[in-house]
Formats: sequence, C-alpha cells, structure tokens
Amino acid sequence: MGRDSQPLFDVLVIGGGPAGIAAAVRAAECGVRVGIVDDNPTFGGQIWREAVQGEQNPEAARWSGLLLTGNITRFSGKRVFHQAEAGVLLAEGSDDLCELHYTNLVVATGARERFLPFPGWTLPNVMGAGGLQAMVKSGLPIRGKRVIVAGTGPLLLAVAAYLRKHDAEVPVICEQASWSSLARFSLGLLGHPGKIAQGLQLKKELAGIPFAANSWPLAAHGGQMLEGVTISRGGKTEIIACDYLACGFHLVPNVELQSLLGCQISGGHVQVDDFQQTSVHGVFCAGEPTGIGGVELALVEGQIAGLAAVGEWARARRLFGERGKARHFERMLDRTFRLRPELRNLTSAETIVCRCEDVPYSRLREHRSWRAAKLHTRCGMGPCQGRVCGPATQFLFQWNPDSVRPPGFPARVENLAGLAERTQPEDIAVTGGSR
Ligand SMILES: Cc1cc2nc3c(=O)[nH]c(=O)nc-3n(C[C@H](O)[C@H](O)[C@H](O)COP(=O)(O)OP(=O)(O)OC[C@H]3O[C@@H](n4cnc5c(N)ncnc54)[C@H](O)[C@@H]3O)c2cc1C
Repeated sequence: MGRDSQPLFDVLVIGGGPAGIAAAVRAAECGVRVGIVDDNPTFGGQIWREAVQGEQNPEAARWSGLLLTGNITRFSGKRVFHQAEAGVLLAEGSDDLCELHYTNLVVATGARERFLPFPGWTLPNVMGAGGLQAMVKSGLPIRGKRVIVAGTGPLLLAVAAYLRKHDAEVPVICEQASWSSLARFSLGLLGHPGKIAQGLQLKKELAGIPFAANSWPLAAHGGQMLEGVTISRGGKTEIIACDYLACGFHLVPNVELQSLLGCQISGGHVQVDDFQQTSVHGVFCAGEPTGIGGVELALVEGQIAGLAAVGEWARARRLFGERGKARHFERMLDRTFRLRPELRNLTSAETIVCRCEDVPYSRLREHRSWRAAKLHTRCGMGPCQGRVCGPATQFLFQWNPDSVRPPGFPARVENLAGLAERTQPEDIAVTGGSR
C-alpha cells in the first residue's frame, strides 16, 4: 500500500466538527493553503453530521457551504494517529495512509461520552445515549421501541427528542443531577437567550415524557439481550421494561492526540492561551478538547484559532467577548452535571469495568494507580486504549491517566511497521502486546 504525501499546508485542521470547520473557513478566507481531516465519511462532527448530509439546520448549512466553497482541501474518512516528525502527521484511511505536512495546526477533536459501569451495562442494547442516536442516524430501526434515556447532561434531552421524533417510546428520562442544581441552571440561562429558545423547543418536543431528577440506573437485566432496567428514582427503586437503555454521563474531551503532540493538559482539558494556542508553538486547539461548552463555544473558539493560526490577531481578538459569554455556559454545564458520589457505588465486585480486556471491579480495586492496574490486569490496553474505562476509573478511583504513547489510535500493522522505521520501536505501544 502506498503512502500518499500531500503538499505543505499553512494551516492543517484535525477534526471536521463545528470547531474545525470554523477554523478552516476563517483561515482559508485569509488566502493561505488550508487542509481539514476528519475520521468520519462526512464532515459536521457529532451534532451536524446528519445536517451536512442534507437535513435542515440553517447554521450547519451555512458553515458547510463555506467549507465546500472555500479553498480548502478536505480529507474525510482518515484518522490522524501519529506525528511522524515535527510538522508531519500520519492519517490512516480504510485502505491508505496519508502524510500531512503543516506549518500551523488546529486540533479540534471534540469529545466522547462518559460511561460508568453498573451491573448489566455490557448487555446488548445498553448503549451510549449519543451512540444510540448515531446508530439511528445510520439506519437502526427504532420505531415502536421502548428506550429509557439515563445518565446526565443536556445530551440526554437532545437524544430523547430525536428518538421520539423517530417514533420511539421513551418511558422516562433519568437525570442524576438534583432538582436544585437544575433550577440554578435554568436561572443561569437568563443570560443566554438563545439557549432559552432551544430549551423551550426541547420542552415542547418532550411533552408528556416523565423527567426524573435525582435518578440513575442501578442495573440492567436480561438474558441474551436487555429486557429491563432497575432505576433509583428520587430515592426509590423501580424496574422498568424496555428494549434499549441509552445511557451516558456527560462528555469527556478527546485530548489523546494533543497529549501525543506534547500539549499541556490539565484537569482533562487542553490548556490554551487567549488565542487558543496550546503550550506547543504553532499548535492551536478549539472546541470540546478545551472544555465541554456546546456548539456556540466550539464555533467561536474555532474561528479564533483559525484566525490566530494565520496571524490575524486583531480579528481574532474581536471574538473574545463572544467566547467569554459562551465560556460562562461551559462553567454552568460543569457545575450542574458534575457526578454525584453515590454513582461510585453502582459497581459490584463482578461488574466488568474494562470491556475490552474483561477486567472486573474486584481486580481493579487491589491497585493504587492507573499504571499499576494496567500492568497487572491489562485494563485500558485493548482496542479502545482506555477511552472508555479511563474516564470511568478516574471517577471510581481518582486515577490519573498516563501520558499517551504512539500510535494515538489503533492502526494497521503495515502502517505501524512503516512508523517503526522512523521511530524507536520501543516508543510504540502495540495493542494486544505487553508494555
Ligand atoms: C456522541 C455525541 C453526540 C452529541 N449529540 C449532540 C446533539 O444531538 N445535540 C447537541 O447540541 N450536541 C451534541 N453533542 C455535543 C456537540 O458535539 C458539541 O456541542 C459540539 O458539536 C462540539 O463541536 P466540536 O467541533 O468541538 O467537536 P465534534 O463535533 O465532536 O467534532 C470533532 C470531530 O473530530 C473528529 N476526530 C476526532 N479525532 C480525530 C482524529 N484523530 N483524526 C481525524 N478526525 C478526528 C471526530 O470524529 C469529529 O468528527 C454530542 C456530543 C457527542 C460526543
């Protein structure tokens, strides 16, 4: 298989969600060579992927129009997994390997759902809330299915509304946050009129679906497949029959690539200055990796990063006020949907925590750190490389993840072999091997 080497980009953007699109568009307007790469077949990120494919969303349509008409080289279906040398990234497609050369880089890799283990969470049809939504978007039939939506964060409401629109029955939405923190959140929305409008729209779409605060799943039941869920609802236990459980506990930033590039990470977020520049000169970061703040924050951070990457400091500075407002919303989200300590008691000794390597809670609690647990149990060493169990063990045991080792994502053996020609072989972590 050949390696496709692209010309030098003045600005290369990783991630084709709202933040990455905004960065690429603003940089390209300044007349420089811009490339954008995303690992999905279509651009738009978690929220706009379907809209970019054709559904109506004026904001998504506007930005995707600018992306398509701007002088931007687009690479879809390619995952960046390694920095071969300073200024050269490797991205893997379904049957090719691409070498991307850049002068300045904007990393806008978004976030993923946080999953917490509880008895039965590995049963078929227990899914992430956003994960189930993505599967329905890709054609999974959901009409007439009973779906319990549970966990925490505004994504639960968006998913429940989406499922209902596609004729699923949602018997309850379980939100672990308390009524008092939700009430404070609603008051805080007064400073964000756009969010109030979105909230009212969601309320209309969800009319008639019971919403339970102070509630979370205790166990999922079934033989071959999910049949029902025990929930704790305002202190009382209840079993509800269902076909699916859509469950996610807010989002965690995707910071592995930034960590691989040497960017400073603190509290799980990439550290950036006022111009979205990371601790590595010429590497900018925008959107969810710097904090979970929603699409408005992603868009404004992306624009600032794109402008700063081409030295348009004054134009970038003019967007600081808008970003400040959006960051206020990010802090509200963080306060409201912080996980309650009781959720640490959901796991039993037998509950599998690392699904890739089948590691139960009882084996993990013998260890004092993420590193020790990895070495002794192989937790976090399977195909997901700790992306699922890492945030769970961080919450359960307060373990901090190690630094990321190349490759940042599982990659094909022939591509790793090529990589080893450039890198010291012992610096490459091999999934399924030992460290
Ligand atoms: C599962 C999920 C579902 C969501 N659904 C909704 C919703 O319905 N409504 C809503 O308001 N908000 C939703 N959100 C939140 C929403 O994603 C954010 O508010 C906002 O869109 C973030 O934009 P972003 O550009 O920072 O990240 P994203 O939109 O996540 O874009 C990041 C992009 O980078 C790509 N990427 C990551 N790593 C690499 C790599 N190594 N190489 C190449 N490409 C890479 C990702 O595949 C993704 O396309 C969802 C979030 C998640 C995680």
